[in-house]
Amino acid sequence: MKKVPCSGCSLLCDDIIIKSDGLYIDEVIGACLKGKERFDQITAKNRILAPLIHKNGQLEKVSWDEALNKTIELIKDSEKPLLYGFSNSSCEAQLKGIELAKTINGFIDSNATICQGKVLEIAKETGITLTTITELINKADLIILWGANAAESIPRLLNKVLFSRGKYRMTGREIKTLIIVDPVQTASFNVMGVRDLSLFIEPNKDLDLIRALKEECCTVDSFPSEGVAGLDSDDLKRLLMHLSGTENGVIFIGQGLLSPQIESHVIKELLELIQLINLKQQKGRISVILLGGHFNMTGFDQVSLPIYGKNGGLQFNEGQLVDTNDTIISKIENDDFDCSIIVGTDPISHLPYGLSKKLASRPLIVIDNRKSATSHIADVVLPTAITGIEAGGLCYRLDQVPIELKKILNPPSKIPSDEELLSQIIEKLEKT
Ligand code: SF4
Repeated sequence: MKKVPCSGCSLLCDDIIIKSDGLYIDEVIGACLKGKERFDQITAKNRILAPLIHKNGQLEKVSWDEALNKTIELIKDSEKPLLYGFSNSSCEAQLKGIELAKTINGFIDSNATICQGKVLEIAKETGITLTTITELINKADLIILWGANAAESIPRLLNKVLFSRGKYRMTGREIKTLIIVDPVQTASFNVMGVRDLSLFIEPNKDLDLIRALKEECCTVDSFPSEGVAGLDSDDLKRLLMHLSGTENGVIFIGQGLLSPQIESHVIKELLELIQLINLKQQKGRISVILLGGHFNMTGFDQVSLPIYGKNGGLQFNEGQLVDTNDTIISKIENDDFDCSIIVGTDPISHLPYGLSKKLASRPLIVIDNRKSATSHIADVVLPTAITGIEAGGLCYRLDQVPIELKKILNPPSKIPSDEELLSQIIEKLEKT
């Protein structure tokens, strides 16, 4: 029996027990269904076990040599290569991805760019109060899920932070208030207790709510009698009372606020509201945790920011970083690419149709361990080991805490890790 971290989501639970004979994982204890599915990926039907090349309208198995030669050929023919994904890879692989982008004068961005990355960009201006899961387990008394369906996206999060007792308290769930701000009644509402607050906000009215709260922080009794954003004035008062009275509160910002459709000033004003409340607080404070989904969503920020001063959207030219505000979205929108290398993600399914269509219209190299809509249309598919099971590496949990993932089994057919494969590509490019 071994205790290992789970790479099923960005919570990276490090209390999972596995029984393994070194060839297979026989039993997984303590993981949620999503985590169990992650461990089952080793033998899943959608697993990619051999390199593939698109020939005569379909993907055909080929040798590693042929697949790598084709990859090099596509990269060499490209003047504006795009690298994207990396949130399901270790930090070591992310660093290799950046090295590859530098070698081929490419543009590299991670999944975080259309998720939590923009919050960190905005936070450079407004400031941000972060916290850790451990601190919440021990001290939280107010948990707010804003546009976040934690029960389904990060299944064990509420077990840990809401139902825990913690080190410094004799009480647990009974002193913790849960507030959910969401236009949709998600599965997370199922854990609401009598003292909790369900706020069904009207769709896309988050900014109105944030502004009303900011206004009330500055001018008492400014809530309009008819309410704001579908919430009545009693709910608004209760919300503000909890926000300003908490000893250790946290707002989990979820996909409802992190999605690309949400304007960045919504996030900016939310961060400003939190700073405003924290300034007025005598002893308590509110912190923020960003609920990115992929298991190493925060890793790219940690790898890129200290070296390049930017947490994504890195453009290289002649081996040097070039100043740009581009993101993966603007690059595709403006047709500013002629080949893409997609690592561990499925943009064809995730991006709007217009962007997917453009991405699909140029040569596409996919590095992944599972079949997806993107791998289905790729010119070359290069399989890699599953990080956290068949390959180890450093990752960052959603609260920016580093967690070392472990290699538990050898990958089948000697498949390389993302890091090893990217190194091989760099080496081959340097030799040709
Ligand atoms: S919550 Fe996430 S990290 Fe924890 S067991 Fe479930 S999938 Fe794995």
